[in-house]
Amino acid sequence: VAAEARFITNNPASKQQHDLAVGTLPGGNTRTLLHTSPFPLCMKQGKGAYVWDADGHKYLDFVGELTAGLYGHSHPIVREAIISTFDNVGLSLGSTTAHEQKHATLLCDRFKLDHVRMTNTGTEANLHALAGARHFTGRRKVVVFSGGYHGAVLSFGGGQPAPNNVDRDDFIVVSGYNDIEASVSAIAAESGNLAAVLVEGMQGSGGCICGSAAFLHAVQDAVHAAGALFILDEVMTSRLAPHGLGFELGLKPDMITLGKYLGGGFAFGAFGGREDVMAVYDPRIPGSLAHSGTFNNNTMTMHVGYTALSQIYTPEVSVAFNEKGDRFRERLVAVAKGTKLSFTGKGSLIGLHFTEDGVEDITCGEDVRGKERSDLRDLFWFEMLEEGFWITRRGFVAMVLGTPDEELERFVQAVAGFLERFGALM
Ligand code: PLP
Repeated sequence: VAAEARFITNNPASKQQHDLAVGTLPGGNTRTLLHTSPFPLCMKQGKGAYVWDADGHKYLDFVGELTAGLYGHSHPIVREAIISTFDNVGLSLGSTTAHEQKHATLLCDRFKLDHVRMTNTGTEANLHALAGARHFTGRRKVVVFSGGYHGAVLSFGGGQPAPNNVDRDDFIVVSGYNDIEASVSAIAAESGNLAAVLVEGMQGSGGCICGSAAFLHAVQDAVHAAGALFILDEVMTSRLAPHGLGFELGLKPDMITLGKYLGGGFAFGAFGGREDVMAVYDPRIPGSLAHSGTFNNNTMTMHVGYTALSQIYTPEVSVAFNEKGDRFRERLVAVAKGTKLSFTGKGSLIGLHFTEDGVEDITCGEDVRGKERSDLRDLFWFEMLEEGFWITRRGFVAMVLGTPDEELERFVQAVAGFLERFGALM
């Protein structure tokens, strides 16, 4: 209560902005996830790894725009690519361009795809991948996993505050994440009807819960035995290894979906994979599926996405950045040992969980769901804001390139201080 009272006193400009926003936006916002009570903080500027709110407070950006903000704010290479596209090319030419071909070639090379198609969001990428799988197999059903998040209309408990699924009961079967036995039998049970399995290698919005290699391989094998397609959602996880998480784990998905930072900071999504599967979208083939979207190939996203991936997030940078994240998470795990706070994740993505019994080895959302101490989580959020750290209220940290090492250490100390101050609650 005291922390929330200080938040209200310290943030009058954010409050004022929220009061204005509720006049035209339901609840004052246009992304449900960003609503926090008593009102959300309103950011007004970002530079490098930092953001400033409407009241002028400076924060280290640990939200990282939910992984889309990988490059940080106003990166000079991104800036130059934006300006040169605007000045020399134009935003959208109503035609195919060399820019989309170049970005497609880079994405195929990096993520081991034969063919790829662009969309504007990860949600669209998943919807089109599923439609493609259903067309390719001539079957309807799709198996997904509890705690999965595949976009605004494809959420299965993964972090979304409220469900909003389209027509899901009709064709979706939900199985248990990291539960090999249940998943293999759910896939086998749907066998003749199954078009695809859609799975994250690490459930991102679901709390940064890593899928075990054994689970993911068992699912892949079961899907193939059922004659269906294995679709790996790499919208969040592609940044975790130079060729994506699936490649690192030795998986061979028939299709993957991409998004977030791969548009260089602009709205982006893509789906791609095997040539014969992606051929369902080849307009030269009679009876192929349509896939449209006015901005799918807009030159700004294509060129900036290409430039940022090829010049900034090179395979070497990806390795070093995620190793840095692993070391950071290990430090956090060490300071929180024996408390109600646990850390999960991989590389540059970290999940924070406050649970009644302080679960140490979280293998799936069920380990924490219903046992969460939301009071401690909210207190932690208010306290970390005061220490200058901008993180999502639900405890998701997406590191940003260029974050100084001493800032990571400062966060470790802030967490240690929090646990010491509120030890009585732990
Ligand atoms: N898939 C995963 C794994 C995601 O984390 C997200 C977004 O957080 C999406 C799909 C949807 O992407 P978008 O928000 O661009 O629609």
